[in-house]
Amino acid sequence: MTATTARVLAGPPAAEALLASVAARAARLPTPPTLVMVRLGDDPASVSYVRGKDRKAREVGLRSTVHALPAETSQAELLALIAELNADESVNGILVQLPLPPHVNEEAVLHAIDPRKDVDGFHPVNVGELWAGRPTLTPCTPAGIMFLLSHYGLPVARQRAVIVGRSHIVGRPMAALLLNADATVTVAHSRTVDLAAVTREADLLVAAVGRPHLITPDMVKPGATVIDVGINRVLGPDRRAHLTGDVHPDVAGVAGALTPVPGGVGPMTIAQLLANTVTAAERQPTR
Ligand code: NAD
Repeated sequence: MTATTARVLAGPPAAEALLASVAARAARLPTPPTLVMVRLGDDPASVSYVRGKDRKAREVGLRSTVHALPAETSQAELLALIAELNADESVNGILVQLPLPPHVNEEAVLHAIDPRKDVDGFHPVNVGELWAGRPTLTPCTPAGIMFLLSHYGLPVARQRAVIVGRSHIVGRPMAALLLNADATVTVAHSRTVDLAAVTREADLLVAAVGRPHLITPDMVKPGATVIDVGINRVLGPDRRAHLTGDVHPDVAGVAGALTPVPGGVGPMTIAQLLANTVTAAERQPTR
């Protein structure tokens, strides 16, 4: 058995702190910031994510509307709805829940959202601004991780950061945010040679892969801060599905600090979406 030493970086207290600032900023605006979410079909994970975001939005004083459209909705119909929401001055944030059904081109849809209302931060204008060091609306999971690190007083500037995973949703924007915060950043991925040698260099290791327990204790520098973004469903010894991260539990015996799964990064993502909605509202002309 490995002795547990790592400090546990629990998500809920950090998310609550972020949500408190969201509520205070929202209350200072002349009208409540308004988020509109669109989902197609009834994929259970998407239904539950959208429901969670909708509930939290209302709790902190935002207005939230959900358009639950049939899975057969055409791309043209979806684009027409987005055009309507773009033109509607009472709408501050637009989120189209991914994944979309295969007959809809995700890129076409994400590019159609007005960048000023793009609270997911996936529009190329916002991606470009982030990489240019002028972030405005940044993807929620990595931006939420930056808040979590600062909430727990963990250093970023001058740290050697390694991110495992290069997705548009997590890995790449995480790299940009850490770079903007003066970390020295390496991005590893499925083609990286000798992953363990790369991850062992990290003072700050972010695992965003989607492979249960890929990061083992021998891959972690003693005392490192480890952020586990992975959400994997695995069958436990009791033959029931459990959620587990990309980081092996024994890493707790080597790392200095570690986010749990569940209850680590997950809560930060929703809180950051609502923070982005308030940011969008603050930057849009008053109605
Ligand atoms: P993705 O599938 O788009 O990307 C995975 C990345 O991992 C790829 O860039 C790939 O190159 C890399 N990879 C795959 N196998 C690898 C290997 N063996 N070694 C090194 N790199 C490898 O996934 P994503 O959308 O970035 O999500 C990653 C994980 O994070 C998933 O488990 C997902 O469910 C989770 N996630 C969690 C949250 C949250 O709020 N907590 C948000 C988004 C994603």
